[in-house]
Amino acid sequence: MQELATDPVINFRTVGIALGLRCNYECAHCINHSGPSQRDSMDEADALRLIESISRESHNICFTGGESLLYKNKLLRCMSSAKDQGLTVSLVSNGFWATTQEAARETLTELKASGLTGICISMDSFHLPFGNPEHALYTATLCREMGLNHVIRVCAAATDAFADAFVNVDKHPGVNFQRVPVLRMGRASTLPIEHFKTKQEIPDQSCDTALAPIVLPNGKVQACCGPGVEFNDANPLNLGDWREESLDVILKRARTNPLIAALHNIGPVGIISLLNGVDGSTKPIRRAEYTGVCELCVDMCNNPRVVDSMASVFEQPNVKLKLIAGQAYQQCYTFLEQNQFLDLPEFKQEP
Ligand code: SF4
Ligand code: SF4
Repeated sequence: MQELATDPVINFRTVGIALGLRCNYECAHCINHSGPSQRDSMDEADALRLIESISRESHNICFTGGESLLYKNKLLRCMSSAKDQGLTVSLVSNGFWATTQEAARETLTELKASGLTGICISMDSFHLPFGNPEHALYTATLCREMGLNHVIRVCAAATDAFADAFVNVDKHPGVNFQRVPVLRMGRASTLPIEHFKTKQEIPDQSCDTALAPIVLPNGKVQACCGPGVEFNDANPLNLGDWREESLDVILKRARTNPLIAALHNIGPVGIISLLNGVDGSTKPIRRAEYTGVCELCVDMCNNPRVVDSMASVFEQPNVKLKLIAGQAYQQCYTFLEQNQFLDLPEFKQEP
């Protein structure tokens, strides 16, 4: 009889790559401490090799940072290479280069010619000391005209008059906004508490971002972009170091990682309920208040006792099967949704 699969099979949403953490802005909420004094950057030869590996394990790549347009020529060559290897290419940028409509069009034209299909422009009250919201708006409109996907990501504080006025689809038709709360991590952890929407309840959410690992210039490969700045060395969401082993091996291993599957399927709270049936290792994991699910996840995964308990629970055959089934179900649902099969009456139920 054929054996059942024993590992979850994860398809990444995208793989992020940071060519450097240098940024010409120094936003007070920046989750990974990017800024003008950051010196970590990736050699082009390394970046091209890593992109080849990414193309074997993902359909999508996202260039992030730092501000990768500070190394524009290197970025354009890396994007072209990614496109030539069949990857769908996206970019996160603060949009500093869009000083005029002509300048914005010129840069977008170069990016598109090098394979860019979508861009996320960061603009919010934390970017205001450095950038201009009008530039973000006309860049978004130009993207639309040029057939590029776009979103303006607005990190909003708990009360945020700028975000309230700026995120206005009636005033800016055709512009896509994504309003997200500020996470109390990285440089943002020094902001006054009033900036955060806090809740006393444990955040009960699953995590999509766990399907988007990030490859960093210092060699680290982490399960998600951003919160990794808070991971201690023993945190299992550190997936490996591309300076020590091949990125193919690291990503292949991550695609069968039960912790990633569990974070995506049932989230930290689901994992806690699995562990509660086994031991009390998660009892000390409790903050007075949370700004998001990542704080809970980091507290669990930075705690060696919880990490050991998770490893043994994920070895249980019934848990393994649930994770495989859950991952397959989620990904089938996404596939059906993206291909508009969910309009069929038999697929009306959401997972
Ligand atoms: S939030 Fe973005 S623009 Fe601001 S410092 Fe960080 S990387 Fe730079
Ligand atoms: S919940 Fe965990 S895996 Fe997901 S983004 Fe937050 S820290 Fe990363």
